[in-house]
Amino acid sequence: MSGQTKKFKAEVQHLLDLMIHSLYSNKDIFLRELIANAADAIDKARFEALTNKEISREWEIRLEIDKNNNLIKIRDNGIGMTEDEVIVNIGTIAKSGTKEFIKAIEESNPKSADIPQLIGQFGVGFYSSFMVAEKVEVLTKKAGTDASAVRWTSDGKSSYQIEESTKEDQGTEITVHLKEDAKAYLETWKISEIVKKYSDFIEYPIILPFTTTKEDKTETTEERTLNSQKAIWLRTPEEITEEDHKTFYSHLSHFNGAPLKAIQFSAEGTSEFKALLYIPEKSPFNMFMPDVQKKGLQLYVRRVFITDECKDLIPDYLRFIKGVVDSNDLPLNVSREILQENPLIMKIQKNVIRKVLSELQKMQENEPDKYAAFFKEFGKILKEGIHTDFSNQEKIKELTMYETMNNEAGKLVSLKQYVAQMPAAQKDIYYITGESRAVFENSPALEYFRSQGLDVLFMTDPIDEWVMQSMHQYDKKHFKPAAKGEIELDEDSRKKSDAVIKDAAEKHKTLIEFLQKELGENIQQVRFSPRLTESACCLVGDETAMSPHMERMFKALNQQMPKTKRILELNASHPLVNALQKLYDKDNNDPKLKDYAGMIYDQALLTEGSPIPDPMNFSRRITALMVSNAEKN
Ligand code: ADP
Repeated sequence: MSGQTKKFKAEVQHLLDLMIHSLYSNKDIFLRELIANAADAIDKARFEALTNKEISREWEIRLEIDKNNNLIKIRDNGIGMTEDEVIVNIGTIAKSGTKEFIKAIEESNPKSADIPQLIGQFGVGFYSSFMVAEKVEVLTKKAGTDASAVRWTSDGKSSYQIEESTKEDQGTEITVHLKEDAKAYLETWKISEIVKKYSDFIEYPIILPFTTTKEDKTETTEERTLNSQKAIWLRTPEEITEEDHKTFYSHLSHFNGAPLKAIQFSAEGTSEFKALLYIPEKSPFNMFMPDVQKKGLQLYVRRVFITDECKDLIPDYLRFIKGVVDSNDLPLNVSREILQENPLIMKIQKNVIRKVLSELQKMQENEPDKYAAFFKEFGKILKEGIHTDFSNQEKIKELTMYETMNNEAGKLVSLKQYVAQMPAAQKDIYYITGESRAVFENSPALEYFRSQGLDVLFMTDPIDEWVMQSMHQYDKKHFKPAAKGEIELDEDSRKKSDAVIKDAAEKHKTLIEFLQKELGENIQQVRFSPRLTESACCLVGDETAMSPHMERMFKALNQQMPKTKRILELNASHPLVNALQKLYDKDNNDPKLKDYAGMIYDQALLTEGSPIPDPMNFSRRITALMVSNAEKN
């Protein structure tokens, strides 16, 4: 291979532009990212070395400052890269991460303080070196093979050069040629400070030569290890300071702040392991990207990093948890495939779930505000467990929180609190799913509940409807959709309402039949119901129907949906009913009747937040109504 110049892929180019012209104040993180890459590379080599005798080294990361040439080097003796790997990993970026990263930056317009976190979260750390570099060189040699070394060079503008080179040892050396305004990184104290801050617990020594000038002007150089290398999860809880947690959490999550909660525990007996887990405060920008979901906890076996892609360590519904599990029992040379459905792993998972759920429960009880903040951020993920983890379903139910009709906006209550606050007359747990509280608050379908002081859970997460399929009961009370099916009344009210409805149905038989015929394409039935106390009409599903909210979501996903016809309910005591009946009795061919029938249906759609099928027509009818009304005056 002779030297070649290659153009960056468009996304990489875009990303580099962002980095080079960045005004982000915290540029220090480039070093954190390069050191993290170096440590990852050693993790990988160490794992390979378990089966490949060609690889065996004293693992270390070496830093070098060259003041004369304005550069610093970061050198590792890890796994290294072949030419193809260099091109794929840092030339083209086949990863989904880059595009998403750029999108996140451009769409969400995050504060510049958030950018360093984004860089880490999206796995584009290497490029952050261009925040401080006018040129970056990568010299790398793949471990355990006889592939020749490769040199990659770029000024980050539009292209990079790649050529065969020579290098004695395995691993990678990154040379960062510093920009004029980044000279601070030539100071040993500055580098030491950054390493201490971000990379202290990295397991491999990070070594930096310190040169001191003696009085007689002779220089001596002494190598110092900058990091303490303490595997933080092996320390006792008392030994770990808040600051330690913050640093380690930021390493795992790429967030700069503190975690919401640290959970440290160990298990003995059939499965021995130590775990240090963190409940984050915020979800990363990429929480719903498949790549990130895959990365659960980091698995170590007796301090050796094995993988961060062991899906079975933690269930999907806890995928927001970050942390480390270090097992004593798994064999060190366990292959990543063998980890799948391994009974020891399943045991760890069980423990992890139990511990996390019980910590959440404690937080819910003792620190309700903190818990509510947590739930707002991660509740929609946690709730998946109700549907997917039957053995812990009851515990997860206890952990869910909702807004309700009888509590002020923004306030979340647990099912336990809901049940405790229920009026004595209420037997079931009522809920409604939909877009927003605002829609529920005005929904005619809830008028009856409102008039009786009954409480209704407001469910606005897209996932709620799916979760409800597994909810069934809580505290021996059934969950009942408030906007579906018939309303259950106590015996007295039932008798009264039955009489009113029977009466109305007889009196307005002809009108009902007319409406039914007129709207038959869209609704299955027209009926009077006790649900409405103020409005004239509303739409309800039958007991089994999909909610209009769910239907709209499926449509948005371009899913073919069979049309569900719902029931149009009328309020027997609303003056509209009598007025229409009069009009009908006068002349049942009056064209206004057709218009009014359509308007009743459109109104019912609007009040529940559904779009109306023909807004032009609706507007024409309203206008006509206004004109005729205005002329009367
Ligand atoms: P991330 O590390 O999050 O994947 P980066 O942009 O920092 O993203 O790095 C891209 C890829 O380049 C890495 O996934 C890794 O495969 C490779 N790489 C980076 N630095 C090194 C290194 N020091 N040794 C070996 N491979 C490296």
